Amino acid sequence: SPSERKSTIKQRHEQAANEVLPDHRSLYIGGNWAESASGETFETVDPTTGETLASVEAGNAEDIDRAVDAAWTAYEETYSDFSTADIQAMLESMADAVEDKKEEFARLESLDNGKPITEARIDIGLVVDHLRYFAGIARAHEGQTINTDDSRHVQTIQEPYGVVGQIIPWNFPLLMSAWKLGPALSAGNCVVLKPAEETPLSILKLLEEAGDAIPDGVVNVVTGFGPDAGEPLSNHSDIRKLAFTGSTEVGSEVMKSAADSITDITLELGGKSPLVVFPDADMEQAVQTTITAIFFNTGECCCAGSRLFVHEDIKEEFLDELAAAADDLTVDDPLLDSTDLGPKVTAEQVERTMSYIEEAESEGAAFVTGGSQPDDEALSDGCFVAPTLIDDIDHDSKAVQEEIFGPVQEVFEWSDYDEMIELANDVDYGLAAGVITEDLTAAHQCAKDIEAGNIWVNTYNDFPAGQPFGGYKQSGIGRETAQEAIDHYTQTKTVNISLD
Ligand code: NAD
Repeated sequence: SPSERKSTIKQRHEQAANEVLPDHRSLYIGGNWAESASGETFETVDPTTGETLASVEAGNAEDIDRAVDAAWTAYEETYSDFSTADIQAMLESMADAVEDKKEEFARLESLDNGKPITEARIDIGLVVDHLRYFAGIARAHEGQTINTDDSRHVQTIQEPYGVVGQIIPWNFPLLMSAWKLGPALSAGNCVVLKPAEETPLSILKLLEEAGDAIPDGVVNVVTGFGPDAGEPLSNHSDIRKLAFTGSTEVGSEVMKSAADSITDITLELGGKSPLVVFPDADMEQAVQTTITAIFFNTGECCCAGSRLFVHEDIKEEFLDELAAAADDLTVDDPLLDSTDLGPKVTAEQVERTMSYIEEAESEGAAFVTGGSQPDDEALSDGCFVAPTLIDDIDHDSKAVQEEIFGPVQEVFEWSDYDEMIELANDVDYGLAAGVITEDLTAAHQCAKDIEAGNIWVNTYNDFPAGQPFGGYKQSGIGRETAQEAIDHYTQTKTVNISLD
């Protein structure tokens, strides 16, 4: 019965929490677990059961000051003397620590964020891959020599900033931390990192497991809320570079804060990415790619393919098949291997998603499927939203122009290529896009015409280390996950030696 299923889910989560939660739920400063200066804590909640998972220290400006001081001490006394081989070994040890306990990390991420365990395993695999990638390229940072004439020798040296600040969102908590820690540490910087208040646990577990491999103060973590702990990090005068991943709205505030001290900044922000299906697309592959594009990570993906442009010749058949595939998805306890969609991260995020859905409904949009919370009593304590496909909606409407960040996709029919491209580009964002076609010329043309930092052709949400990731327009500044990220974590020193 639903009530028996509900209590089985609760028991499963209690047991998992006992097995995988980190022992420390404190700040990590200078290699020590520390209480917050205010003595205050906050609770992180399991979005599947609504139960409190853990109480975590609520850091504030004083804690950020302590962490920045500890990071500079570590930089000056230890880390600036590290050879690139030392850095490589340290990052490899961090990767090993995650890999050794990869199932524990995946279950923890699933508990705290609500993501399906099968997808949490993908995250953790990528965490290991990205840490190893940045371990490897630690040995390959190079400056340049510049030819002018025989009167001088000009060369550049890439030097670390010293101490950098990093602010992390809740949708891929450990993966976004690895995307940031990897290049920062590889380039020789010490870090103060603030995880999202919704999902602080996996980064604490990383330090619990890998802390011995990292010299004290090289990585510092201050858990806490955005205005209390994030803002003092973003406007700290001793932070030389800031990396932020989160919403465009907060990113803009963070950029203004960084301006006060002319702190270098990279931003990975929101998206409203188009997915274009051409009439020659292989139907089954196109449907599966669309499902991955919008429903991976329960739609809580900055690069989710949330606007579908399907050619008029195939729209009817495509939508029938897509709706059937969406209805086949299993919405259930994220700890089960059979689950495709878990809960959203918080009740507040459910409200936000539902308000977009209700607004679209009131404007007369048609729902191909979904549009509500699932009608399953066993899940009624959780933050679940059914997979939703919306048709007949004006491209100028709020639900289309703004990032919903949930399992909701809006569908548009196209016939004229130029008009389709115009609409595809008609949002403030430019993070990603997908193109599904067998026609190589069409794929290349479309990839060129769409204004976005990442274009996937006949695939979606594929993030191998080494492939740059980042946004055009209001989706961000800078690139992560690749060699280019190292440039953002170093500054160029030019040395001009007279030969006269
Ligand atoms: P958010 O902007 O609400 O919060 C992100 C982080 O900023 C959190 O750690 C939060 O505590 C902190 N923060 C909040 N207010 C702050 C302030 N005033 N000063 C400094 N820090 C502050 O975003 P979120 O809801 O956690 O994450 C979802 C967003 O992240 C989505 O918009 C998504 O598209 C985006 N995202 C982008 C990428 C990318 O690579 N482009 C990746 C993942 C997520």
